[in-house]
Amino acid sequence: MAVHAVAALLVASVLSLAACSTAPPAQASRATVFEGARLIPGDERPPIENAVFVLEGGAFTQVGRRGEVQVPDGAARVDLTGKTVMPAIVNAHAHLGYRKGASFRVENYTRENILDHLQRLAYHGVAAVMSMGTERPEGYALRDELLAAPPADTALFLTAGRGLAMPGGGPAPPLRDAPYGVSTDAEARAAVRELAEKKVDGYVKIWVDDRLGTVKKLTPELYKAAIDEAHTLGLRTITHTQQREDVKAILRAGIDGLAHPPWRLGEEVDEELVGLFRERPDVFVLLTLWGTRNEIFGRRPAWIDDPLLRETFAEADIRLLENAAVAADAPARWKAGVVPRGVAKLKDAGVRFGLGDDAGATNGAQYFGFGSHMEMASMVEAGLTPAEAIAAATRNSAAILRLDRLGTIAIGKSADFIVLDANPLENIHNTRRIAAVYLRGQAVDRAALREKWAAANAVDTR
Ligand SMILES: [Zn+2]
Repeated sequence: MAVHAVAALLVASVLSLAACSTAPPAQASRATVFEGARLIPGDERPPIENAVFVLEGGAFTQVGRRGEVQVPDGAARVDLTGKTVMPAIVNAHAHLGYRKGASFRVENYTRENILDHLQRLAYHGVAAVMSMGTERPEGYALRDELLAAPPADTALFLTAGRGLAMPGGGPAPPLRDAPYGVSTDAEARAAVRELAEKKVDGYVKIWVDDRLGTVKKLTPELYKAAIDEAHTLGLRTITHTQQREDVKAILRAGIDGLAHPPWRLGEEVDEELVGLFRERPDVFVLLTLWGTRNEIFGRRPAWIDDPLLRETFAEADIRLLENAAVAADAPARWKAGVVPRGVAKLKDAGVRFGLGDDAGATNGAQYFGFGSHMEMASMVEAGLTPAEAIAAATRNSAAILRLDRLGTIAIGKSADFIVLDANPLENIHNTRRIAAVYLRGQAVDRAALREKWAAANAVDTR
């Protein structure tokens, strides 16, 4: 069986077993009815006002308008009048383990720190995360362990293992030494075969970037070999490629998705590129706008005062979000710039966008969880509607990662959802007004997590 199919099966079985393993049997079989919320299904359809949905055994068994849904006898009831419910988020591009508060180094890459990141994601309503190409041996072991028995208050941890780059190339330090350094066709294929043996979760990450001339960029011969070997083994490929002409070449070579959009260096999306995307409608783009947040949000972004940040982070970490170097007119210039124009062109071409905030890398900083909410806000700044941004962050990202039971609120899906105090379709920033998070049918104990982080922040002496 193809490797990605095995991984998908594993995840599917985890999602169906989770409710049984984390709740007493009597409760797992008892239905719970949630009544009165505005329900955003996550598939761009209009919300259901005054909705009722039923959970049983960790899955949605009924979803609809009040009065149209059959409520099982003896069900527990939860009143959600005045609340809005959306599917839990799926973050398809992050780098787990290296960030710890303001510190960013290889030594932070421990089991405990990765678990902390997974808890931060869960706290913010992120149900699953893909660690994109910077894994170390402890990461594989932890992934296997968590897939077999996922703890209640963590996001699902998927990994693309170690990506491929030229020796000494790839991501910026301290992530730099994580990927395979390959310089021959045989080495590229051997690396992909090893990833398949490690049962990476569906994707091989490929870096094609000379980091502004400071490192060697993976050659077309080598990434063609990697793509070919991956496809032969049933894996898909995703690339960090910065330059427009390289993006065109790797699209022609059969890449399956872009971990970053192609306009980061200020190059416009041209007609040839649009044509290539039209020829390959299955290729997805993770917008990764978090990296350009400085320009979008200006010198001192209003959301620095968001109470949600203070629930998880020390003041020293929050101060890092101030963009002292950004010009006062940066947000206005950004609005008129290459990124919104590129997003509009790709959107018109029908390109499927997913959410990847690159949390844990240089640009994504350490804001696991919070970053995904800022990413949705940035998508709206770039020209998506709130419904489109939410669908990108939920349905699309789940589909990209082949997490068939995540991404929308519908009968048979895993009960992973966020309860909000305000409607994000009116203002996308309302995705951060989180009242509760449910993962695999169980409420995440957010109060306990807050206490843990408050205690850690209190002794932080940075
Ligand atoms: Zn990245």
